[in-house]
Amino acid sequence: MEQKRHLTGFGREEMEEFIKDLGEPRFRSKQIIKGLRGHRLREFGEMTDLPLALREKLAECATASSLTVRSRYVSIDGTRRYLMETAAGHPVETVYIPTANRDTICFSSQSGCPLKCEFCLTAKLGLLSNLTAGEIVEQIIIVLNDVYGERNEAPHGTNLVAMGAGEPFLNFENLLKAVDILAEEDGLFIVPRRITVSTAGIVPKIREFSALEARPNLAISISAPTDELRDVLMPINKRWNLAELMSAAGEFQSTLRRGETFTFEYVLLSGVNDSPALARKLAGLLKRHGLLKAKVNLIPHNPADPLPYEPSSKETVADFKAILEAEGIPAFVRTPRGRDIFAACGQLAARTGSAEADV
Ligand code: SF4
Repeated sequence: MEQKRHLTGFGREEMEEFIKDLGEPRFRSKQIIKGLRGHRLREFGEMTDLPLALREKLAECATASSLTVRSRYVSIDGTRRYLMETAAGHPVETVYIPTANRDTICFSSQSGCPLKCEFCLTAKLGLLSNLTAGEIVEQIIIVLNDVYGERNEAPHGTNLVAMGAGEPFLNFENLLKAVDILAEEDGLFIVPRRITVSTAGIVPKIREFSALEARPNLAISISAPTDELRDVLMPINKRWNLAELMSAAGEFQSTLRRGETFTFEYVLLSGVNDSPALARKLAGLLKRHGLLKAKVNLIPHNPADPLPYEPSSKETVADFKAILEAEGIPAFVRTPRGRDIFAACGQLAARTGSAEADV
């Protein structure tokens, strides 16, 4: 049987072509986009502005719901983790993080991840699949619908971060297609400035990304200021070392536009990469490469069995931050969210278990 087309990830032209092939007038394409991404509907039957015959025709050959939510976990701090599954049965995890001013949704770009960052549980899964643009967009739709209900706006707007499972720059085309779809004014209308993409350091893609007209904000996960240590913690460093990474980061910085943000992420592991000497080395590295428009986000490690690391103490984190600031590098400490439900940074590994709620 021919597989149903997943329309949630169809760009405008693709949708027009599809509608034309069905023998329908072009304006139907706009209506479908409005229904799928503006009203966030996942069943064609709910698109009551379409004639019944077209709804039935669409249901036969297409789908608006390729992800299935298997479980939802709710943290004591309000964070929610969604464990979903693709049509092929691969796990997809998405995290909703409420804050006072704005919600953030942390989405996945891949099922599992091919990189082997030592402090990350997702690495243990290996790569299961690249997510399609439709699977990326549908994660956002599912979370917004769960929190606010179909058709309702998020009152404070939504920020997105590609910091769930996967290395987004190894699924570059689908990621960029999803970014275009997310920005549609008659759709979800989440513009690139509200999206941050985090990479472990895929240097050629950072360069390609830098040359884009419309692009999300960039975060680079660094987590060690020497090649010796980074080779161990983030083995991607053996492919592109710190000098190459800093050079690509410089290229991005030179094209930074007003309103865009540029961040280095540094996961602090107790006794491994959190010493005052390494804080000074990090500041020195960024200054040597002239990376003075970037800020550093310090992320205390989120412990997860069987990872062998512990988070740095509050005092150590504060000292590390103070050293960076004294060197003129803006530094911020990221508050861990959803640790109790395995939703925090580095903890996504399709875990099931207690604290489960009805979806
Ligand atoms: S930290 Fe990110 S890039 Fe590294 S293994 Fe985990 S998911 Fe992959």
